[in-house]
Amino acid sequence: MKSGKQRKSEIKMKRLERIVKRDNTVDPFKDPIPDWAIPVNPAEIVYHSMFINIPLFYVDKEFCCKDCGQIEVWTAKRQKWWYEIAKGAFETTAVLCRACRDRRKHEKEAQKAHMKAVSERIPHPNEDFFKNT
Ligand SMILES: [Zn+2]
Repeated sequence: MKSGKQRKSEIKMKRLERIVKRDNTVDPFKDPIPDWAIPVNPAEIVYHSMFINIPLFYVDKEFCCKDCGQIEVWTAKRQKWWYEIAKGAFETTAVLCRACRDRRKHEKEAQKAHMKAVSERIPHPNEDFFKNT
């Protein structure tokens, strides 16, 4: 019997293998665009460099999470969303895996809630001064 975790990581490995194979056979800077590909809409791309090569289509990208070192795939679909809908600069790329992204988001929210609670509890030190003038 394989544990669910083992099974999951096997599936992930298979997925990564498939992606690597795919990447080796296509060049996103050259025609033709394969029918599985998600095309880039250059009109929607935001970038700050003078010289930047915009590919014809997105390909799934592997990256190493800078927080936990886990290898994660940044899918073509999510890249399109990031660059064309969220308007992330084309120079930017994914650096955090999903788990770390969620964790950071929660930390940020917790911090915000904490700051709010603190600001509501402690009055401004000069409050009386401002009230009396
Ligand atoms: Zn991570």
